[in-house]
Amino acid sequence: MPIWEPESESMSRDELEQLQLERLQATLNRVYRNVSFYRRRFKEIDFRPEDDLTELGDIRRLPFTTSQNVSDSYPYEMFAVPLREVVRVHTSSGTMNNPRVVGYTRQDLKTWSTIVARILTAAGVTQDDVIQVTFAYGLLTGGLGIHYGAERIGASVLPTSVGRTERQIKIMQDFRTTVLCSTPSYALVIADGVEEMKIDPKTLPLRYCICAGEPWTDAMRREIEERLFVKATDNYGISEIMGPGVAGECLEQNGMHLQEDHFFAEIVHPETGQALEPGKEGELVLTTLTKEAFPVIRYRTGDLCRILEEPCPCGRTLRRISRIRGRCDNVVVIKGINIIPGRIGDILEQIGGERPVYQLVATRRQHRDHLEIWIEVSERFFYDKMREQRVLVEIMGKKITNFIGITPRVKLVERGSLKRENGEVALFVDRRKD
Ligand SMILES: [Zn+2]
Repeated sequence: MPIWEPESESMSRDELEQLQLERLQATLNRVYRNVSFYRRRFKEIDFRPEDDLTELGDIRRLPFTTSQNVSDSYPYEMFAVPLREVVRVHTSSGTMNNPRVVGYTRQDLKTWSTIVARILTAAGVTQDDVIQVTFAYGLLTGGLGIHYGAERIGASVLPTSVGRTERQIKIMQDFRTTVLCSTPSYALVIADGVEEMKIDPKTLPLRYCICAGEPWTDAMRREIEERLFVKATDNYGISEIMGPGVAGECLEQNGMHLQEDHFFAEIVHPETGQALEPGKEGELVLTTLTKEAFPVIRYRTGDLCRILEEPCPCGRTLRRISRIRGRCDNVVVIKGINIIPGRIGDILEQIGGERPVYQLVATRRQHRDHLEIWIEVSERFFYDKMREQRVLVEIMGKKITNFIGITPRVKLVERGSLKRENGEVALFVDRRKD
């Protein structure tokens, strides 16, 4: 199978590490010069990039960057170039008060489309393919990220964006789509739709499904492959680092090759932040090595995985990361959107003047994620006032929709009815294990 950039994707470990060190040096110099956030923090520990970085391991002396740090620098404070050099701006999904804003120079966009071209090539896509992108186009990175990489390869891109399943399937059928890009759960929604529309999936020219955007299981992969007659690969992207393209599986389907010439990866203990031995599962921490507009140093992704050291038969020497097993912080992912359950309490408190006892419940019906918010009634909240209850529930639903971008079902429950453990109600319950 072809490799998009064989000289970069198959270099020897020594060569790669030398390149990483040079690029890391350049990145640290750049942020020290241009980003006050990093300069301040480097100075605090008396770290001068020019003198103090002699090997890759020296990076461990530097403090982590968190999503909160990025959110606090809203909108442009962490940019390392003047705005006139920025040609694109995106934000990441999430429930911070301020979204995390990321920027790209022309060169960054080139890098981005190159790494997406790499993962698509690894997943079997060629210029002969018709690729349907069902990720959101807009401020989030999913849609446009895949889009330009697919164009770079020379595939024919259908930017259908999210939703309207019947229309997606009609397009798939009429436009002879060969590659579907979607979240794993949406691939199954499509499979359901195909069945409902009484289309024989074997008559569709689909060959591959590029899955990304949410954690999934082997069982889901098998189901997608069996019902849509495709080969499905796993992919990992994160807006703060770049967007889609950070890592992706080749057709061996044995873990996602990480674009190590552009990103330096560490695995740390999610609580202590200590580096873990090779092969151990922990939190993925990434440092960008080539980004100009928005370099990030030791970014805590919150995603749990391990680095796979064994060579891959495909010939790429870039190491792989295992499937993301979940989140290690208090972020939960519903419909591909990152949600911090505690923040929902802030919104409810703003509306009702008091923080209610509440619980987020994620369910999955027909492969779709649904969010319910169960709120216990109290004197302040809803007690005995049917009319007021309805209005409040409606306001809450709307506010939360505005805030997180998905519409929850708000449900009132009796006081004391949510299950307590040591007197505490869990803020989040996941019932999606179907
Ligand atoms: Zn491989």
